[in-house]
Amino acid sequence: MRYCKLLLANQIPAFAAVTERNNELFATELIADPLHPQAAPRTAHPFAPISLAQLEREHRLLVPVTPTKIVCVGRNYRDHAAELGNEVPTEPLLFLKPPSSLLPAGGTVERPAISKRVDFEGELAIIIGKQARQLADDADVAPFIHGYTCLNDVTARDIQKSDPQWTRGKGFDTFCPAGPMVSNEIHPLTENISLVTRLNGEVKQRGETRDLIFTLPHLIRYISQCMTLEPGDLIATGTPAGVAPMQAGDICEVEITGLATLRNRIR
Ligand code: ZN
Repeated sequence: MRYCKLLLANQIPAFAAVTERNNELFATELIADPLHPQAAPRTAHPFAPISLAQLEREHRLLVPVTPTKIVCVGRNYRDHAAELGNEVPTEPLLFLKPPSSLLPAGGTVERPAISKRVDFEGELAIIIGKQARQLADDADVAPFIHGYTCLNDVTARDIQKSDPQWTRGKGFDTFCPAGPMVSNEIHPLTENISLVTRLNGEVKQRGETRDLIFTLPHLIRYISQCMTLEPGDLIATGTPAGVAPMQAGDICEVEITGLATLRNRIR
């Protein structure tokens, strides 16, 4: 299963299956919302296959899920904790981003005037598929995972440091680019997955999920002990070393093996 959410020519949102053709990703046919399959697909609407690249250029990609919350994990790669001068945490360090911070692939990250340093943080995001509540320490988490997508945990670093809580520094509008595609055809529970973040084409971050301090199953169980995870909820699993500020006009890309590239312009 690989799919995206897009705007049809008449501005109506729809879901479409994604297929690779000649090394390029195409939205090929309209489907029902995979998280709400009882909703009828818009199959009556005429639809011709279109590349994700073209959808991005035409600003027709949408965030592919509608989370009730975005749960993030701070300092989950040793090298990133070290680069900011922090100890490796002994328990997952959780914080939330508001759904209002979501931005689709191809959207523009707006740097707030009150911040002097807005950083990218490329991350692998888990999408929850089934309500998860108080999972036991040995619970199998696979049935609760719908799929994965790319996420950029954009951060106003100076405000994150000056405020006792991270809510503002992490929560501005447009600070959570996510997408462009959902896939359950990558297997980070059993295989290593690589992540690369580029700024204006230059590689800034390289991460491997085998270097995560807290594994994906551990994170899902740990979060579910605190809050009920709902279908569509996003878990941003942490960022590797190499975070750096972005300037107006920059293009930031988060690329994860087996997922499409999440690309956003900065203003
Ligand atoms: Zn982060």
